[in-house]
Amino acid sequence: MDDLSTQLSQTFGFTAFRAGQREVMEAVLTRRDAMAVMPTGQGKSLCYQLPATLLPGVTLVISPLIALMQDQVTGLKARGIAAAAFHSGLSEQERDRVVLDLKLRRVQLLYLAPERMQHERFLRLLRSLWVSLLVVDEAHCISQWGHDFRPDYLNIGRLRRELENPPCLALTATATARVQADLCDRLSLQDPLRLVTGFRRPNLALSVRLCRSRQEKLAILDRAVREYETGTILVYCATRRAVEEVAACLGASQSSVGYYHAGLSDEERRKVHDEFRVGAVRILAATNAFGMGIDKSDVRLVVHFDIPGSLEAYYQEVGRAGRDGRPAACLLLFHERDVATQEYFIQQASKESGSSARADRMKTLLQDLLEYVSGPTCRQLAILDYFSDEAERALGPCGLCDRCVVTSQPSAHVVGDEATCAKAVLAAVSWCRGRFGVSRIVDMLRGSRSKALLTYGAEECPGYGGYHAWSKTALTRLVKALIDAGYLQVEGLEYPTLDLTRKGQESLKGISPLLMSEQVEDPAASAIKSKA
Ligand code: ADP
Ligand code: ZN
Repeated sequence: MDDLSTQLSQTFGFTAFRAGQREVMEAVLTRRDAMAVMPTGQGKSLCYQLPATLLPGVTLVISPLIALMQDQVTGLKARGIAAAAFHSGLSEQERDRVVLDLKLRRVQLLYLAPERMQHERFLRLLRSLWVSLLVVDEAHCISQWGHDFRPDYLNIGRLRRELENPPCLALTATATARVQADLCDRLSLQDPLRLVTGFRRPNLALSVRLCRSRQEKLAILDRAVREYETGTILVYCATRRAVEEVAACLGASQSSVGYYHAGLSDEERRKVHDEFRVGAVRILAATNAFGMGIDKSDVRLVVHFDIPGSLEAYYQEVGRAGRDGRPAACLLLFHERDVATQEYFIQQASKESGSSARADRMKTLLQDLLEYVSGPTCRQLAILDYFSDEAERALGPCGLCDRCVVTSQPSAHVVGDEATCAKAVLAAVSWCRGRFGVSRIVDMLRGSRSKALLTYGAEECPGYGGYHAWSKTALTRLVKALIDAGYLQVEGLEYPTLDLTRKGQESLKGISPLLMSEQVEDPAASAIKSKA
């Protein structure tokens, strides 16, 4: 057994390293810079805690979360590791104690809050130490591309230089490829080991639905929610108003629905939080204000009723699904209007900050998200690409997302929902056996109660009312596209009626695939086009 394995079992009581841990430790022990990007809970802390016990000097850890610092120190001390923290929460006596321990070289691991670096006296003390390793926890805070930029973090580059460039380890859970490049640059990492791992979530089925109206969104949401009679459901909305609207809508047909947004009083928020935790609220509509610190393992469905501002935010929010490892679904509902909402947020942010740089960054992030929405590849792979998690990417497509599932079915050459609807049109036309024209077929799928339809017994038709959420225009467009593509034919001049062609019959039976030359316009794709 080598030093690392011995330390792992003797000091930490673990039997094996998790993915990536050993590589990172070996890099820092050979004085190579490293950047490790792993999801929360993967075990990033061990990547420096264990080396700290083997390194001759002190390991400095910059971390923004004082509360967590204290927990870590307590845990480490219990394992016999000489750890300490220095931050504004300490009493003068406690600080003196830490300073003395540092001077006497009795500290192996020192946690620091980033604002400490502004104190010249403290910097002098640090310069007098033998720093073997500088660890930057939550390193994405150094990048303005990240979701949690902290100006204090910009001082870390300088600190590193003043300490005469000790090896540096940057750790984060959320770095996109852009943030990764930025933090390597700002921390001046030299030929760093870049380790990105653990972002695949094999139990999540990711899908996107392109919607034609808000009503359609509500209908899809309602249907999706009904499929989950047990387990927790989260519905994310972009605005407070949408949160309340969605909750009211779901509340009409479901019990135990709650909502959460930053406009509630502290007390109301605490109440919802508690009810959610104990399961009294099973279905929760919320803005992105909800989520920090929720740890519910049985979330079976996460619906994004509106698009979020970035793919990073999206993955963080869907990441709350299926923590127990059991299957969970994540459904993103997209409507053209969502883009305008996000653009409004961007405008507000640029007004507040008074700089266009931030707005430009937000626009790019939104653009990335829109590309994801209309992208043709496996959703999981698209996300792994975004985080540049090459190790997980190599495992191939997920087989669960809408893109994977659709392309494995013959009818799938028509995008997502359109495919199912096109099938329903063919089935309805077949059922009517040449009695109805385009507008009656459309009315029937939308569940019209017109006398003409009902006297023909239209309610018995398989697709009757199945597409009530679609607009007349959208359905008509789809039926016409099926005519153009040769699946349907129009007969009769005075009262034109629809019938299946041979090609239509074959694809209805599943013998041949449904392929349309002129696809119904994909709203996300056109949103992108109009920005370009
Ligand atoms: P992160 O910082 O990535 O969110 P932590 O460092 O807090 O994750 O670790 C999460 C949990 O995993 C902790 O309870 C930690 O003790 C445990 N852990 C870390 N590495 C291992 C390992 N190799 N074997 C078993 N448990 C581990
Ligand atoms: Zn997939």
